[in-house]
Order: sequence, then structure tokens, then C-alpha cells
Amino acid sequence: MDALIGLAGLAGIIYSIIAMISAKRRHMPIKKPVIILFLGLVLFISGLSMTPPKDNNGIGTGDSTISPSPSAISTSAPEDTPTITPSPDIATITPTPTPTPTSKTLKELKVSFIDVGQADSILIQAPTGESMLIDAGNNDDSNLVVSYLKKQGIEKLDVVIGTHPHEDHIGGLDAVINAFDIGQIYMPKVSHTTITYEDVLTAIKNKGLKAKAPSPGTTFYLGDAKCNVLAPNSSSYEDLNNYSIVIKLEYGNTSFLFAGDAEDVSEKEMLNKKYNLDADVLKVGHHGSSSSTTAEFLSSVSPKYAVIMVGKDNNYGHPHKEVMDRLKSKKIPVYRTDESGTIVCTTDGKTITFNVSAGSYTSGEKTEQSTPTPKSSSGASGDRIVYYMKNGKSYHYSKNCSTLSRSKNILEGKLSDVIKMGKDDPCNVCVR
Ligand SMILES: [Zn+2]
Ligand SMILES: [Zn+2]
Repeated sequence: MDALIGLAGLAGIIYSIIAMISAKRRHMPIKKPVIILFLGLVLFISGLSMTPPKDNNGIGTGDSTISPSPSAISTSAPEDTPTITPSPDIATITPTPTPTPTSKTLKELKVSFIDVGQADSILIQAPTGESMLIDAGNNDDSNLVVSYLKKQGIEKLDVVIGTHPHEDHIGGLDAVINAFDIGQIYMPKVSHTTITYEDVLTAIKNKGLKAKAPSPGTTFYLGDAKCNVLAPNSSSYEDLNNYSIVIKLEYGNTSFLFAGDAEDVSEKEMLNKKYNLDADVLKVGHHGSSSSTTAEFLSSVSPKYAVIMVGKDNNYGHPHKEVMDRLKSKKIPVYRTDESGTIVCTTDGKTITFNVSAGSYTSGEKTEQSTPTPKSSSGASGDRIVYYMKNGKSYHYSKNCSTLSRSKNILEGKLSDVIKMGKDDPCNVCVR
């Protein structure tokens, strides 16, 4: 239709030019052809402006593969494992092909590695406005995560991923689900008998949502960013960490690999599946533990930068020396939340910039004398003094626990009393 208007305009222009020439030759008035020329021009221009631009690469990333073309969405259907089919709901998280952004609207993709101490919480904001949250820190980080998101102007999270049911990943998830509009929730198919996990399930249910387990090998889009699901590749593991949903996000020519707490077992599976693991930024698996980031996996990812989300003076000695040595020998700059706080990384699809400078290769292992946390020998006597936060659900054995360190108001009380108050989630950092 628009093309027809344009064509009619063009015909008018050509006709009027011919008429003008012949009128001039015959010394006749050229007023009529001039009016036709004007009308023709108007029709032609309006026809042009109504024709939608065909060029999907207007985003300027120079990489046609990332364009969220409708065809790319339909191919994101399950490729192999039909067991846990990534529901047709995937389409709901893929915003209907937005009008091609002009160069004016081109902003950057922003990845915030939110400092939640010995825990993970990563916010990804696409330039087209979509956002994704991978994990939400500990229970005690709920307010911190929610307020960080609000400060970024988030009202809706298009995708929320709870990588695996450990508290340091899903602790704040219920608060996030309650505080924002949520598109799609992804969680691995594994349950966990903790109150924290139950709270998340309740929050999901109360909001009328349903968590889905994404199949490895499938993709979904966050605006123009392509998200590849790389793990988990098996249906059962000994260690909960290996259930971690691993995502590789591609934006333009840049890429990020978010490894959750995936350990060597899962890394090996990803390698065996021959996935393209190559990424510019690696969110190092399991807080820099030596159970993750094997030499083989690191070579395959070959990151330009590594990010470690880890708490200062954590009881696990994270990040471990083996991992730091491996990163150092490959001269990969390491950004760490224990040294830099929240790390914000931005990319225009070509270059990647960090808001802070790279950190040290120092491991978290304490020299000599490792202080083993006293086991809860208390048993029946719940009279041990524990520490907690007003709004938290966890209790802590150590007042200096890294997950408490950000709180100004650390309260204390007898374990039995604190549990009665509903703060019955043992901190996974200081209570072991
Ligand atoms: Zn963790
Ligand atoms: Zn974990």
C-alpha cells in the first residue's frame, strides 16, 4: 500500500517533468505541471516514509545474528532434549519485534554484578529496555537487591533466573518476585528442603507464575541480546551446585558467560556437548572455588575478563588459589566484588568497559591456622547466642559474618528465641 503511494508519486514526478519540458518548448504556461510535480513529490516522500525499513541491523552492532528476527524466535524451540521443553511461554519473554531502533536510541547493554557478599546477584539491562536478573543474593540481601533494581528504574524483570536452590543465590528471590512485575522465571528441576526455597516457590505461586526449567542448547532473547542455555545437561547430580543454570549472553560481538555455581562435573558436560563456550567475560563459577573453573573449561571460554562474586573473609577461602593462579597465568584481569563492591560492566556490542579497575590475584585462603567453625553441638540446647538482622530470615554464628557486614543493625539473641521469631535459616556462610 505504502509502496503504491510512493510509486504513484514517482509517476507524477516523471509526468510533470515531461509536461514541463514540452510546455516550455511550446511556450505554454507551466503552472499545471508544477502543481503535479509538487503533488507527486508529496506522495513519493510519504510513500517512502511509511515503508518500514528492511534493515534489521539498524542497531549498529554489525552482527546480524543477534537481530531478534521472528524467525530466530521460532528456531529457539527445543532442539534435542524433549524432556523439559522450554514452554511456548518463551515467546512471552521475547518482546514482539520492536520497531528497529534508530541510531539515536542505541545505548549500551549494562551488566551489574551486585555486591551481595558471599553470594550472587546479576542484573542485565538491554538497551531496548528489557531486563534479566540472575540470582538475588542471600535472604539478608533482599532489601539491598530490591533497592538496587529500583534505583536502576526497573519496574519489570522480563526474565528471572534462580540458578540453583542454594540460599546465596535464591535467598532474595521471593522479595524480588513480590516487588516487581515478572515475565518468565527459570529454575532448574530440583527441589531443596529449605525454608528459603519454599519461600521462593510460595512467592512464585502467589503471583500466579510458574517456574520453567530451560533445556540446554536452547536460546531466548532479551531484546537484541541472545541468551544461550548451556547447563544443566543432566537430570540428577550429587552436588546441588551442578544443577546451576548456565547462560551465555551474546550482544553484538561481545559475550558473557554466567556460570552460577556450576562445578567441574557440569563444566565437563558443557565441553562434551561441544557448545561454543567462548566468551569475553566469565562470571567465574562458584565464587572462585577450585571445584570450578578447570583448566580445560577456562581454555575453552578463554575470557578477556573474569568476574568473581565473593564475600570478604568468607569461611570457604574463596576465591581459591588454584583458580587465581590459573587466571593469573593466562593474564586475565579479575574483577572481584570483595575488593570493588558492585561491578558494572557496559558494552556497545563492540567494546566492554568496567566501572572499576581490575583487582588482585590474592586468594581468600587464610595463611595457616584455619579456624573451623564450631559445629552446632548445641543440639537440644538452643541457647547459643546468634546474630540476625531485623528483616532477615537467617541467623548467624559469627557477628563478623561477611553476609552481615553490610548491616548497621546487627541484633543478637538466643538461638531458640531467634528461631521462634521465624529467623530459622542457618547462614550458609558462618553456620555449617
Ligand atoms: Zn553460591
Ligand atoms: Zn551453590
